[in-house]
Amino acid sequence: MSVVQTIDDIELRGKRVFVRVDFNVPLDADGSVTDDSRVKAAIPTIHKLHKEGAKIILASHLGRPKGERVDSMSLSPVAPVLSEKLSLPVTFLNDCVGEEVDRAVENMQEGQIILLENLRYHKGETSNDIEFARKLASHAEVFVNDAFGTAHRAHASTFGVAELLPVKVSGYLIAKELEFLGEKTSSPERPFTVILGGAKVSDKIMVIDALLDKADTIIIGGAMAYTFAMANGKKVGDSLCEPDKVELAKSAIEKAREKGVRFLLPVDTLGTNALDFDAKSLGETKIFEGDIDDGWEGVDIGPKTTEIYAKEVASAKTVLWNGPMGVFEIVDSSKGTFAIAKAVAEGNGISIIGGGDSVKAINQSGYSDDVTFMSTGGGASLEFLEGKSLPGVAVLDQK
Ligand code: AMP
Repeated sequence: MSVVQTIDDIELRGKRVFVRVDFNVPLDADGSVTDDSRVKAAIPTIHKLHKEGAKIILASHLGRPKGERVDSMSLSPVAPVLSEKLSLPVTFLNDCVGEEVDRAVENMQEGQIILLENLRYHKGETSNDIEFARKLASHAEVFVNDAFGTAHRAHASTFGVAELLPVKVSGYLIAKELEFLGEKTSSPERPFTVILGGAKVSDKIMVIDALLDKADTIIIGGAMAYTFAMANGKKVGDSLCEPDKVELAKSAIEKAREKGVRFLLPVDTLGTNALDFDAKSLGETKIFEGDIDDGWEGVDIGPKTTEIYAKEVASAKTVLWNGPMGVFEIVDSSKGTFAIAKAVAEGNGISIIGGGDSVKAINQSGYSDDVTFMSTGGGASLEFLEGKSLPGVAVLDQK
């Protein structure tokens, strides 16, 4: 496994440092930041750069303004939030390139912090336009990537700029992601148990395939389980499933058998005869063991499965969890997911939450302080777990 250099490995004093952060925060109608966890997550890296006397230029995207200036997607509300968290002044600039930015950057003092306006106000960001990347790169001598959530994209600020600068390293956030999603799952403390859930086999099949080479046990939940049930010749009623992925599911089961990986599927399922996602309600519910009747769809793992899965998690030394066990957005079909969240948090081993909805579930259940690591990536985490090289990481200097 390649290990990238971090901000601990380089000279920072007096250097102009372009830091790609992930400040893609939710804003309410008044433009106030409603969840500042992404800002908080960037603090250790910024503090270190400040302490070392770097000239810090922060850049991020927010939403999808598609190359236009959209006021509701301005990063300006983030500057005061960041300033308060750092207890340091933060200068916000109205653009990320152009004369005003050039002048401000030219006159920076050691330790000063500038936050640039939304990168995606420029089309060149997502298209990795070389001219746009050159303009961004002209601000700095060092590139720091600390935005794991966009590391799977070769955008101007995640890839193009890095190619143009002589020194490119990761911040603490990405370093942690690589440690936990990479090293800790590649040479795990065993037994290593992986829990995968969510809607589709097609989204996770590559992850399953890669983890079959590493895990001792793979546990399947969520709607994904119904495609696997079909592969085993079971009836799934009206459950969400992918009949065209049954062959893929069969090969995963076969690979698990060949490799001696325990591959667990639900032994019971909570079914309903009416699911209204918008109204957040279920009709009648009942537990199915084996086949699910027509007119009914599976919405959560059943109580027996929950017990078996929780025991498996409790006995593992390393647990990796990605994807809910059921439609956890609806209270009546959220029990399985929250029981797994509890089991993962209460386990004695290393617990790694692989991003997306599982992070949401852990946060909602109040167990976030009890897990070892929660990934900040969604798509990026999945691609990394698949074993793919992420452009925003691959471009960094190796140790
Ligand atoms: P993913 O983005 O693939 O991790 O999938 C997350 C989504 O899968 C959540 O919105 C869940 O509501 C949904 N999901 C999980 N289990 C089921 C199920 N049994 N039926 C329908 N949707 C499900």
